[in-house]
Amino acid sequence: MTYDRTESMTCIICPIGCELSVTATESDISVVGNQCPRGETYATTEMTDPRRTLASTILVTGGDRPLASIRVDDVPKERIADVMDVIRKIVVEAPAEIGDVVGELKVEGKDGPVELRIIVTVNVRSNSS
Ligand code: SF4
Repeated sequence: MTYDRTESMTCIICPIGCELSVTATESDISVVGNQCPRGETYATTEMTDPRRTLASTILVTGGDRPLASIRVDDVPKERIADVMDVIRKIVVEAPAEIGDVVGELKVEGKDGPVELRIIVTVNVRSNSS
């Protein structure tokens, strides 16, 4: 893979929000502006294989609310739209509980397939209970 570029970015790992300058060549990535090593890890990942935690909702039938919030971790940034297409089609029947896995999918990442799990982050009670 060839990068050969310099980018500015804000580290989002902690509230300090260091302004980073990241230079990537074919053989090396150098980071300046970080106040701790986590900033270097963040910047390196952003340059090579950026990931996001995706938060959204799915439809629920028969529950005390019509939607349940969900989370998907480690989504390759360039696959967010594909994952949202899958999320929009999910309908579950209540009850749903925090931690339930309501979907699993595999997407193509920069270095091969990435397995993702769609996890419920709110409790939805059944109307009939
Ligand atoms: S580099 Fe370290 S101190 Fe700076 S924002 Fe990132 S995590 Fe926080």
